[in-house]
Amino acid sequence: MRSNLERGTKSFQYLEVPGAATERNFVNNPLFGPPRPRTARMPMMQVNGAHEGPSLCIMAGMHACEYPSIDAAIKTYTDTDPRSLSGNLIIVPVVNLAAFWTRTPYLNPDDGMDIGATYHVEGSTISYLIGKLLREQVFSQADYIVDLHGGDVMEDVVPHAGFTRIGDKEIDEASEMLARTYGTQYVFERLEKGAFEKSGLRIPRTLAEAGREGRLEPELTAVHLKGISNIMKALKMIDGTPDIPSAQVVMHGRYEIFVRSAGLFYPSVRMADHIRKGDVLGEIRDLEGRTLEQIIAPKDGVVLLVMTNPVKHPDDLVFKIWMY
Ligand SMILES: [Zn+2]
Repeated sequence: MRSNLERGTKSFQYLEVPGAATERNFVNNPLFGPPRPRTARMPMMQVNGAHEGPSLCIMAGMHACEYPSIDAAIKTYTDTDPRSLSGNLIIVPVVNLAAFWTRTPYLNPDDGMDIGATYHVEGSTISYLIGKLLREQVFSQADYIVDLHGGDVMEDVVPHAGFTRIGDKEIDEASEMLARTYGTQYVFERLEKGAFEKSGLRIPRTLAEAGREGRLEPELTAVHLKGISNIMKALKMIDGTPDIPSAQVVMHGRYEIFVRSAGLFYPSVRMADHIRKGDVLGEIRDLEGRTLEQIIAPKDGVVLLVMTNPVKHPDDLVFKIWMY
């Protein structure tokens, strides 16, 4: 299916999420605001190129406090001239609009779901209906998908683009091409089977991360803009040659580190640090300033993500570490 827009034009619209109009009354609080009727909507932009070419879906704001990705999606819409574009862009700048307006990390405040975990399952709450709308009205039009993320309010993360092999040679090669073409120094081959990969979508895709701690920083928006532009060049949607570092590093899989104690968190490593088994990565101290726990690396790797908020509870995630 192709866009029914006239060639060489662009448009912005809100898609109504079918069946999701609600009259929920939240209590008035600083996070959710005053009680008001809520209709689930999803913004969608289309840029319909003047020339033939592929259909590229760019989506952001699945995690709605990952602002450089949202910013990059919007700028791609405003800065792309449809008259010189081959193919078309379908851009969803904020998938999780309820989370965006309430500044809610990761989840949809209307039902507590991560929309990214709803693609492959049927459900009746709003997040499932948004997932269904994405599948039926957005992904169904796409030859390639770029899912933009990066740095929710409690995270710092190394900019990178990731892909997962689904066991189809053609799709897997195209997904790897998308991830490598994004042009980050690190490329991540995801080995764990996440919800996105179980979606049944047979469309080449990459998940790109750049951002930190719920900030909107132009240099991290720029990482996404360069990646999107690189992909559009590689797909011959616009003129030019992708700018890809010659020494890209592909990381394979990752592990997570949790803490045992409640207290203040003092990390002693930074993003992209190379660590060795047995290294001290940080510690947890109590409110008297005593060290309760040293966090020790169980294996070699590279620091991919730190949960930077300093207040920790037992079993809280503190680090994600890439494996070579
Ligand atoms: Zn995210």
